[in-house]
Amino acid sequence: MKKKIKYPVYVKFPGKLLIVGFGSIGQGVLPLILRHIGLDKKKISIITADNLGRDVARKEGIPFKIQPLTKDNYQEVLDQYLGKGDFLLNLSVDVSSIALMEYCRERDILYLDTVVEPWLGGYTDPSLSITERSNYGLRETMLAAKKSFGKGPTAVSTHGANPGIVSHFLKRALLNIARDTGLKTKKPKARAEWGALMRKLAVKVVHIAEYDSQVSEKPKKIGRFENTWSVSGFHSEGICQPCEMGWGTHEKHFPKNGHRHKSGCGAAIYLDQPGARTLVRTWTPEHGNFLGRAVTHNESVSIADYFTVRKGRKTIFRPTVHYAYRSCDASILSIEECFGKNSELQKEQYILMDDITKGMDELGVLLMGHKKGAYWYGSQLTIGQTRKLAPYQNATGLQVTAGVLGGMVWAIEHPREGVVEADEMDHERVMEVIEPYLGTMKGAYTEWTPLEGREALFPEDIDKSDPWQFKNILFS
Ligand code: NAD
Repeated sequence: MKKKIKYPVYVKFPGKLLIVGFGSIGQGVLPLILRHIGLDKKKISIITADNLGRDVARKEGIPFKIQPLTKDNYQEVLDQYLGKGDFLLNLSVDVSSIALMEYCRERDILYLDTVVEPWLGGYTDPSLSITERSNYGLRETMLAAKKSFGKGPTAVSTHGANPGIVSHFLKRALLNIARDTGLKTKKPKARAEWGALMRKLAVKVVHIAEYDSQVSEKPKKIGRFENTWSVSGFHSEGICQPCEMGWGTHEKHFPKNGHRHKSGCGAAIYLDQPGARTLVRTWTPEHGNFLGRAVTHNESVSIADYFTVRKGRKTIFRPTVHYAYRSCDASILSIEECFGKNSELQKEQYILMDDITKGMDELGVLLMGHKKGAYWYGSQLTIGQTRKLAPYQNATGLQVTAGVLGGMVWAIEHPREGVVEADEMDHERVMEVIEPYLGTMKGAYTEWTPLEGREALFPEDIDKSDPWQFKNILFS
């Protein structure tokens, strides 16, 4: 007989929990919530827009209803499930995060999401400006809500894997580099101290460097977009939104098609091209150097903003921060196919799950430009490890669902913080909750730079005075 594992219950929650959206992330996080949060199963409900996950809900004994939220009905629908002291977990697409946050704020309900999502059409509506469609612009709407709400029921913004737990990896990585370079430092407490530490260590660039090597037994089907997580989510951020990055103070070459936003925190820029076709040179311990895609993400802006150091009104330090994502083989073929059809999403969509035969999601932060060159710190999680750790998900999903669980535990433990981003949370508490689900946590230094092996076949326009310029990192 299989021995029943006793899982630690990190926190008790007496209220009701409503999960909005039950796709790959919703299904994956449910068993983790049931294991680690002390709440009455009868108080959980799920609402979605389609049949995805109905079987999982039935198996776990959780009521499941198709009740899509819209601008017009969301208050009325949510009122059927939620009241003061409850928890709204938003894992949907096409539902405005800010509207749900406001709803929760007014009724004293805890909240967590994994992206700042707009209502349906918010990534593609031609009447919107690029700033409005960008993650920079969406994050500004969240910052405005944060400011106007002040302290109140905790609403954790964008706490999955990335955005989410990579912000906690980054703080660990900084402390590791400080230790390994002999910099005596106390663990920073406030935002300004973290920025000062990064500046002292002379980190110039932070990549969220991810290589997803999961493959299916079946080759990619022509005419179908395949991925290891939300296809519509990846299409929105990779193909419909512009490439975005936190723009560092060490950068000497502003990109030809780059733009600054006219208002807001000023930490990031965007390019007149989508991230899924913005290839960048990056590095992870398992694969060495490779090409990733600078797909826009909230953490590229939030990390750059959080670690900005100012003297009076002048910005004196900021790292360049962006995603360098080598998505799974099937998704790369899907992206090419989609661009060939003028960026229109394939009608058929598919998330690789039980058919995955091998592979790993290697997700971490790569800190470059300091005394020891470059340092990667993060999670190496194979599909085999994933299947032993938790049901209903692949390795990519588990890194995200662990983040959702960690964020929920933190929110329940800190219920009056108002709107918070991962960068503002206690990273060690969250790490304690998520680490058992992340496979191997690895830290590795490398002498690799983006100048390695250059100009072997053709002349190139590079800046040898500083390898860590975006100009040198950009491939195309
Ligand atoms: P999915 O595409 O598998 O599922 C989306 C779910 O949203 C479905 O259950 C669908 O029915 C539901 N939905 C769609 N429209 C809705 C509506 N109007 N009302 C209610 N529900 C609606 O997506 P997923 O892979 O589970 O991802 C969920 C969210 O998490 C997405 O926004 C995605 O971008 C985000 N995500 C974040 C991270 C991260 O690391 N931060 C990683 C992966 C996914």
